[in-house]
Amino acid sequence: MFGWHGTLPGGGEWGFTSRAPGVGAPPYDGFNLGGHVGDDLATVLSNRRALAARLAVPTDHLVHMDQVHGADVVRVHGPADGGRCADAMVTTARGLALAVLVADCVPILLADPASGVCAVAHAGRAGFVAGVVPAVVAAARSAGATDLRAVVGPSICPRCYEVPDSLRAQAAAVSPAAYAVSWTGTAAVDIAAGVVDQLVALEVPTTWVPGCTREDDRYYSHRRGAPTGRFAGVVRLGPATGSQED
Ligand SMILES: [Zn+2]
Repeated sequence: MFGWHGTLPGGGEWGFTSRAPGVGAPPYDGFNLGGHVGDDLATVLSNRRALAARLAVPTDHLVHMDQVHGADVVRVHGPADGGRCADAMVTTARGLALAVLVADCVPILLADPASGVCAVAHAGRAGFVAGVVPAVVAAARSAGATDLRAVVGPSICPRCYEVPDSLRAQAAAVSPAAYAVSWTGTAAVDIAAGVVDQLVALEVPTTWVPGCTREDDRYYSHRRGAPTGRFAGVVRLGPATGSQED
């Protein structure tokens, strides 16, 4: 189920799902969690139930958003806040798991377990340029985070992410780290490097897990073949240790 998984102090956890265990029919076969990509909805819901069970939360407490390649951040207080149009979510609610869905874009997980804050963000090229990274860090800090740490998940690598010169210039203006060259020597972007550069500049210690989604078929990749499914980055806090709870 998880390509990458780790624990947080206080009993929380984070992870990035992979395509295994394989269920469903091509081109979505694997562990597709995206409900908007043309796959059989019953299969998607079954996969979401399995992921929620693995995270020890009720299915409706595995909260998704309707990602639109922007920079809006939603404050999530409970399951009813799921499904809103946004590319980042922040919560201080202990019983929730937040999910970000991707297939080449950069999934970002943020947590400060001691302060009881966690967050996710979806940074494609457009969202990165729109400023979703500083927006989610600011929102997490205004929710009370003082010791935020990030995990950046698998995404498309710069060699595989050719773009027109103008889009490379636009991304490089946000962070020079996003300037890249494709495997054929043409203009490309390294959105993950740009995201990590921004997180480090914002003084958020960051773990950047390896993996190119286009080259590694354990993950879904829009550029390798669309339509396709979506894998997830998920984070949840552990149980509350004090009496303060959202
Ligand atoms: Zn690659």
